[in-house]
Amino acid sequence: MARYRGASCRQCRREKLKLFLKGERCYTDKCAFERRSYAPGQHGQARMRKESDYAIQLREKQKVRRVYGILEDQFRRYFSMADRQKGITGDNLLKFLERRLDNTLYRLGFASSRRQARQLIRHNHIQVNGKRVNIPSYLVTVGEEISIRDKTQKCSAINEAIESVARRGVPSWLSADHTNFKGAVKTMPVREELTLPINEQLIVELYSK
Ligand code: SF4
Repeated sequence: MARYRGASCRQCRREKLKLFLKGERCYTDKCAFERRSYAPGQHGQARMRKESDYAIQLREKQKVRRVYGILEDQFRRYFSMADRQKGITGDNLLKFLERRLDNTLYRLGFASSRRQARQLIRHNHIQVNGKRVNIPSYLVTVGEEISIRDKTQKCSAINEAIESVARRGVPSWLSADHTNFKGAVKTMPVREELTLPINEQLIVELYSK
């Protein structure tokens, strides 16, 4: 399964926003965005021209893609699914992204970043309703239980992530039981509890052109 393998901090600098892609490091003074909050590359500090509507829409789409660690083709697939569903397309799109298993694991506090969550899933450490699931894009549904395999519960990365989860909290649509290394999906994701501000309407406008 393809994924972005380049430098994470470069993506934050490009989007001019901390995207929190690297877990603990993002909260320290080693954060590259704190040190150099301008775009990467030779012309990163050049004076900005006024951005066109298209550029603004494109940046919003890229930002969301980067936050959730999704490549273009898959992102487009989410958009078509969202568009085909009843309701508001932008809202549906965000719900699909939030329901991804890698995001859910991160939001439950069992991983310090979505990238780390993805790796835990790929390496067979995660179960859904007691069955191993190793697909990061698996979409969780209401009532499902996500747990860490017994053998993995001593993993230091998971325990460190649990220790620091208080800083970002667990959203109300999930319930986490950190003592027993499990969590559950209570309701569908809530738009108001995203980790970063997102204007999904810009993405809808971009793809509707
Ligand atoms: Fe972004 Fe985190 Fe890198 Fe800072 S440390 S630039 S927030 S990925």
